[in-house]
Amino acid sequence: MASETDRTTDRTTDKAAADQAADSMAGKGARFVERNYRLRIVGLGLGFLCVGSVLLGQQRGIAMWSLAVFHGIVWPHVARRAALACVVPYRGERLNLMIDSVFGGFWIVAMQFNVLPSVVILVMLSMDNIAADGVRFFARGIAAHLAGVAIGAAVLGLTFTPMSTMATIVASLPLLIVYPISLGWAMYRMSQKLAARTREFEHLSRTDGLTRLWNRRHWEGQLALEFERCRANGYASCLLLIDLDHFKKINDTLGHPAGDAVLVAFAGMLRSHFRAGDSIGRYGGEEFGVVLPGATLRETQAIAKELLLRVREQAREPDALCPCTISAGIAQLTVDMPDYHTWLLEADRSLYQAKAQGRDRIVVAGGAGAAGAAVAASAAGFVNVKAGVRP
Ligand code: GH3
Ligand code: MG
Ligand code: MG
Repeated sequence: MASETDRTTDRTTDKAAADQAADSMAGKGARFVERNYRLRIVGLGLGFLCVGSVLLGQQRGIAMWSLAVFHGIVWPHVARRAALACVVPYRGERLNLMIDSVFGGFWIVAMQFNVLPSVVILVMLSMDNIAADGVRFFARGIAAHLAGVAIGAAVLGLTFTPMSTMATIVASLPLLIVYPISLGWAMYRMSQKLAARTREFEHLSRTDGLTRLWNRRHWEGQLALEFERCRANGYASCLLLIDLDHFKKINDTLGHPAGDAVLVAFAGMLRSHFRAGDSIGRYGGEEFGVVLPGATLRETQAIAKELLLRVREQAREPDALCPCTISAGIAQLTVDMPDYHTWLLEADRSLYQAKAQGRDRIVVAGGAGAAGAAVAASAAGFVNVKAGVRP
């Protein structure tokens, strides 16, 4: 059996979880309130016409008319304010929808079950409820309608006059026509916004937060795709891995934010340097990868060399945005590579060699198992040290 201490601990944990959940909901649903506010103005305003046309025929007194005017015209504004004043506006708005449903039931009794306006009001309110929160909320709405019927029956008694006059039919038409269109429009706009936000999230989930280049996961996906494309179509592409030299020193001497700024500046250089179809990603902290679809080894070497010189050149300037050189490894896709990991490994090995050979240079992989071909940087330019590369 659980001890009293255990139960107290459980209660405390439950309360903490509930408090946390309540905190996370605070302020939620303001947009939901605003959307319903506009729909409520239209729906209840037109609903007032339906109810009013029946009340006119019944020659009701001032109290009933006052209630009809309040619910049809004043209530949407009160409901909005009340919901927005709640800690969780979403909950306040759900309560408003239930109050609408109770009112709906009441008006059906007040209209003595006049068929057309009763059905129209019931359907419109149910549509609101199901659109707001699905089938369970719709079922709750039905219960609220019944509560409204019960209140109406208690206050006014039950009388059945189901026939609708021509005036009531005409007065019900605007609600019947305009409200579903308004609701449909509101739903369409919401789905458009949702689609835009989904696209935004998808983009964010693929990009690196600092440099805005593809993040490693997405970039590797691009690499895998390119691998498959090359396999299927029988052409070769090249892969370039680039690492900033002695980057840690920048962090150590200028601080981490300055290091971040260097990464951002270098990402900008990469973006402007490569072709639109090349896929550039941040592979690790200060390591970047570029897939060059359809590029030959010669083209890739030339592009990489140009980048290396450009980075080296600007690093010499006093206020250089990227005050360091780069090392790079190039690997061309070859037929003996079983998967893209091998391709990546080849480029990584070449990069490692470029580092080992003194940095500020490019090394070209010579295929699986080969030692690699080095394109070493010298003050004068580049020398292809060893060929051993599949053309
Ligand atoms: P090497 O020439 O051998 O590549 O030396 P390195 O100093 O560039 O490489 P090392 O692996 O020793 O250090 C990389 C540093 O990059 C260490 C890490 O703190 C830093 N780093 C990684 N990610 C970020 C980042 O997002 N921002 C900043 N400012 N620094 C980062
Ligand atoms: Mg480095
Ligand atoms: Mg590194």
